[in-house]
Amino acid sequence: MAKELDLKKFIRDIPDFPKKGIVFKDITPLLKDKNAFKASIDGLAKAFKDKKIDAVVAVESRGFIFGAALAHQLGVGFIPVRKKGKLPYKTKSVTYQLEYGTDTLEIHEDAVGPGVKVLIIDDVLATGGTLKGVADLLKVQKAEIVGVGFVIELGFLKGREKLAGLDVNALIRY
Ligand code: AMP
Repeated sequence: MAKELDLKKFIRDIPDFPKKGIVFKDITPLLKDKNAFKASIDGLAKAFKDKKIDAVVAVESRGFIFGAALAHQLGVGFIPVRKKGKLPYKTKSVTYQLEYGTDTLEIHEDAVGPGVKVLIIDDVLATGGTLKGVADLLKVQKAEIVGVGFVIELGFLKGREKLAGLDVNALIRY
């Protein structure tokens, strides 16, 4: 069997982006490398291989890259969650707490129905606020969240604590 790739080698740290004190995890070197990008999608598919999944839900914008590729690989549909005002049809929204202030995410009101089994994907788990917002949105729609997958988890921010009760998997942990 081929030796597993160390995906950490394809993540670039950008200090003080987008503001001072944040070390931004740049995923573009991973996306550019055909083997690393494939390994990340394969890794996410493997993490949830025992689940029955009807659709992948992902958050704009970097979540779309991994979420759409994974949905294609799994042979399931893709459902976008977007920032306020971007989706064209009727929406349901959730407003969640950021470090300073709030943000609002939206999903089309007919995107998921009761009992639909969804896997939520995003690039980075930081404080968990965004993902908690998405999970709340899906719970209102009575969808069944079968798992939550990330490429990167910033463990020191303890985002997992906000996602208690959910099956959370990350490919890389800091
Ligand atoms: P949070 O709501 O704090 O878990 O933040 C999650 C979202 O912010 C993710 O969609 C990430 O794309 C982005 N994010 C937060 N922190 C970082 C970071 N250090 N590097 C890259 N992206 C980040």
